[in-house]
Amino acid sequence: MIRESQAAVIAGVAVDTRHWIGGERVASTETFTDTSPIDGSVLGEIARGTAMEAAAAVAAAKAAFPGWAATSRAERARILHAIADGVEKRLEDLAIVETCDSGALLRSHRRGVMPRVAHNFRFFADWLLRLEHEDFETRGHTNHVSWDPAGPSVLITPWNAPLMLATWKVAPALAAGNTVVLKPAEWSPLTASLLADIAAEAGLPAGVLNVVQGYGAEIGDALTSHPDVRRISFTGSVPTAQRIAESAAANLTPLSLELGGKSPLLVFADADLDLAVDLAVEQYDNAGQVCLAATRILVEESVAEEFTRRFVSKASALKQGDPRDEATDIGPTIHSRQLEKIDGFVQRALAAGARTVIGGHRDGQYYAPTLLTGVAQDSEIVQEEVFGPVLTLQTFTTEDEAVRLANGTRFGLAATVATGDPERAERVTSQLVAGTVWVNCFFVRDLQAPFGGSRLSGVGREGGTWSFDFYCDLKNTVTAP
Ligand code: NAD
Repeated sequence: MIRESQAAVIAGVAVDTRHWIGGERVASTETFTDTSPIDGSVLGEIARGTAMEAAAAVAAAKAAFPGWAATSRAERARILHAIADGVEKRLEDLAIVETCDSGALLRSHRRGVMPRVAHNFRFFADWLLRLEHEDFETRGHTNHVSWDPAGPSVLITPWNAPLMLATWKVAPALAAGNTVVLKPAEWSPLTASLLADIAAEAGLPAGVLNVVQGYGAEIGDALTSHPDVRRISFTGSVPTAQRIAESAAANLTPLSLELGGKSPLLVFADADLDLAVDLAVEQYDNAGQVCLAATRILVEESVAEEFTRRFVSKASALKQGDPRDEATDIGPTIHSRQLEKIDGFVQRALAAGARTVIGGHRDGQYYAPTLLTGVAQDSEIVQEEVFGPVLTLQTFTTEDEAVRLANGTRFGLAATVATGDPERAERVTSQLVAGTVWVNCFFVRDLQAPFGGSRLSGVGREGGTWSFDFYCDLKNTVTAP
């Protein structure tokens, strides 16, 4: 039984607010308050981890590593499927808890996000069973490449799609035979705790998955500088990634960094304009708190007026409100600090000469879907990630100019191209600097594809075999004839 002071109870779902270390719940002497972005209500008092809990979690992961690494692939895959079953069984609980914790839409969680969480486990379980390198010969000797588990892995995740992003790392790390210390973001700590329960019920041995809570600045360094940690996978902002890279340098711990973006949507005059407008309006999903969001709309001059007219008509119909309501399209912003950040970007852009097409203001915890024009390529609003429902619109007259504007930031996470001309699509995509490029579509994700960012958007790729490349130590064994 969880004591009342150690639980958050959300819509009847009890979530343990302590750490999960070595198969046991562990409290901290201090806690921090987790509030809901929907109405500011207090959801729970969460264990506030320090270097002490970080050390305990890494020690638990280290102790559990030899056993888990020696577990057969088939057994690891079986347990990962059992975790997926558990996620599916508790889908409604996970959906409502995460909606209340993060403010993201309940309908998306029910139908998209939580099924994807289960799929993360199933996909990497199945991929593990197919994972092979072909043996090859050198002067009669056989080369055999094996995928050896690397060791305890620290996984640090952000608040914008908490459980989906966490399990995108947890699943391949566990499949690879590594043990894990997961640290979710302090603004959305709850579903990671439910995952710990689900994994334990699925038969994952104690210490294989550990979950620690707390502020990154207080518990982060102790995790990322720990000499027993053999992999760090981080999703979050560029400044935090830089900090983690410094901390990991002491032990040369291999890093995978999935960071921010300022992705473009290029709309050519030959595009299906309604489709292009749909793609643009889709960028307000999750109140714009999506790393991949194409927040810079680049439209060919000749269709810019018509595009804008149709965009305004469509975007104005979006319903903003309580994310638990099925009819809601856009929920609140995660935290008042994030709202202030968003509004600061918009106000500075307006002061620098930008014009508001729609939005440009906040209402309580909700930021209105915003489109700004009259923005210069070198302005802050075009160059920096806002991470809110704020888009900019620029025009171009030639394909070269479109590519130059698209590539003209320090980021390179994704890009979307709307065009009716397949040759143009090929020409343009080959020049774009981005980890993922979509042509006449957006957010179509297959887990076997490499995923990551170029430039400041990240280091390395995860997904399919690339995840195992990262989480494993590849070993080549050469045997004489
Ligand atoms: P953040 O960098 O502030 O925090 C991310 C995580 O890092 C949190 O768990 C935080 O507690 C932790 N952290 C903070 N300081 C730390 C330290 N010194 N050591 C270790 N951990 C520390 O990011 P955020 O605001 O939570 O998330 C938003 C950012 O994440 C945006 O930039 C967004 O684009 C990016 N993001 C990227 C992807 C991707 O796949 N590329 C996906 C989602 C979000």
